[in-house]
Amino acid sequence: MSEKFDIPFKSSFVPAVLEPGATIKFKCHKGISCFNECCKHADIQLTPYDILRLKDNLDMSATEFLKNHTVPFEMDKDGVPGVKLRTDNDGACKFVTEEGCSVYKDRPTACRYYPIGHMSMKEANASEDEARYFLIREDHCKGHEEDREIAVDDYRKEQEVELYDQINREWLQLMLKKKSAGPTIGRPSDTSLQFFFMCSYDVDRLRRFVLADSFKASYDMEDSFYETVEKEDLALMQFGVRLLKQVLFGDVTIPVKDNAVEKRVEERKDILEMRKKAEIELHKQKQEQQMKDALS
Ligand code: SF4
Ligand code: SF4
Repeated sequence: MSEKFDIPFKSSFVPAVLEPGATIKFKCHKGISCFNECCKHADIQLTPYDILRLKDNLDMSATEFLKNHTVPFEMDKDGVPGVKLRTDNDGACKFVTEEGCSVYKDRPTACRYYPIGHMSMKEANASEDEARYFLIREDHCKGHEEDREIAVDDYRKEQEVELYDQINREWLQLMLKKKSAGPTIGRPSDTSLQFFFMCSYDVDRLRRFVLADSFKASYDMEDSFYETVEKEDLALMQFGVRLLKQVLFGDVTIPVKDNAVEKRVEERKDILEMRKKAEIELHKQKQEQQMKDALS
């Protein structure tokens, strides 16, 4: 199975595959002549955990962060929504300053990995997916001329990217599952795509959804679960991935209440009945008014 390279910064270069255990010759530091050059052509796709870290760094809600600092894009031909960091009109990341990255301790996964590109792949008969790495060499990046060799695994540690990979793993596996399902699944409905966006990126909306009575009436969760997700974004984000897997892929791990579907149909029936009565009443009132108008 193949897919496009995950290249974080705009590039016309074809990346070179890094074999497992490979080392790279690279070092980036403040005194380097190209300092900040990469961030001036940023094309950074965000993962769910990137969004949590960045919105906390900026002390804003996820909804606000998404509105002010990202642009949506379609991750595949079926319109599965992704988000990228918003740039200025010249393509520069809005977080870059003379001093470097203003959100450095919470910078996104793609920025941590650069100049390594990475992606997960799953061979047709394999049970587990595997990480694959690529080296991206761009003329403006002088880090490749620095005299330091480092193993890819050590570079990942140095950039503290392992935690990000670990937390995003299930979500990334979901993307792979969607890709490997191929065209048989077809384009998801707009409601499914909106549901995907909420579960993946917007913990504020997801929290309102999970704490609503309609959710509690459908899913059989302990009180402690609701107490946790009310306070903890990370737990909620991880639950969002489970919810996505269950609702969109039928991978059931969240207990559903008995008769939840039947109850919803009953409730719906009541609503429809009430609506019908209201429409009849309105129609009657209109007719009465028309008669009054005709007689006056
Ligand atoms: S988030 Fe930071 S490291 Fe990433 S592109 Fe923006 S300024 Fe550069
Ligand atoms: S060495 Fe490469 S990654 Fe570091 S600032 Fe320069 S262009 Fe960016």
